[in-house]
Amino acid sequence: MSTLILPDPSLVVLVGAAGSGKSTLAAQLFAPDEIVSSDALRAAVSGSEADQSASRVAFRILHRTIERRLAERATTVVDATNLKPEYRRPLLARGRAAATPIVAIVLDLPSDVVMARNAARLARVVDPAVVERHLESVRTVDSGRLAAEGFDHVVMLRSVADVARLRIERRGPARPREPALTPDKRR
Ligand code: GDP
Ligand code: MG
Repeated sequence: MSTLILPDPSLVVLVGAAGSGKSTLAAQLFAPDEIVSSDALRAAVSGSEADQSASRVAFRILHRTIERRLAERATTVVDATNLKPEYRRPLLARGRAAATPIVAIVLDLPSDVVMARNAARLARVVDPAVVERHLESVRTVDSGRLAAEGFDHVVMLRSVADVARLRIERRGPARPREPALTPDKRR
């Protein structure tokens, strides 16, 4: 599968280890203002992307931003690891509350690719032990599990080629239906 038909608006939840290429993929497929990034918010809150103590505040802002954007019917991409059900649950709740389709894009790439990308990163190299734990978590994620959690569409990307091939085609909201019956003018 290489073309994702994306209802517009949608809530798009990226799932993947640090270094798996979430931010890169988001930048390729979406406009900058559509992407809500936990790292960017952590940096804004604390001056450092790596400052995990800023996480609580950053995620509160992230959830609030998602809520506000969905209320405005704006497609929103969540750029965070989203590796655990308890991290995904508040996102699903907000998508459902706004009656917005919820889509997961999972980057389940080979470990050696992710570890090499993390090590080569200019901005911030995440502790390899942390990345290992992320990779273990992402292996537990599959389409069935995410569908059971409430995702409407799930895209699993299991290779570098899968990622490179992914295209998105947006489908805007259907026009409001004409009333099926014209008012009855007879007396
Ligand atoms: P994130 O931690 O999941 O957001 O991962 P990033 O998007 O920051 O990517 C991690 C590193 O891998 C960065 O240095 C990227 O430039 C690199 N990277 C991401 N995607 C690709 C890709 O498709 N090809 C190559 N060659 N490098 C990539
Ligand atoms: Mg990133």
